[in-house]
Amino acid sequence: MEAHGDRLICPDCGQPILVPDDAQAGDLLECPECAGILFRLQPMSGRLQGQQVQMVSCPGTDQLVEIVCGTPVGTVYHCDGRSYVLTYAFGSYALEASSSRS
Ligand SMILES: [Zn+2]
Repeated sequence: MEAHGDRLICPDCGQPILVPDDAQAGDLLECPECAGILFRLQPMSGRLQGQQVQMVSCPGTDQLVEIVCGTPVGTVYHCDGRSYVLTYAFGSYALEASSSRS
């Protein structure tokens, strides 16, 4: 998925997503058609590319945790000193409290 100063293609709906001319690495873009389809711009090979991410709310603190799409289920995230395990169901990620303390 390339963002060459112009646009990304949403993998879900196929719509082009315009990348603003002043976009910078680290900016977050959202597909205007799909709720919750987000792209984090990252420099790659001298140009900006969009990495699809998903915002998941932490069940303990309600803070939003950014999950990079493709992250394997079972990955442990830490939020507010507690650990949560990544799960995936019905097309979206979620965090579940881990039974083991760390
Ligand atoms: Zn879309």
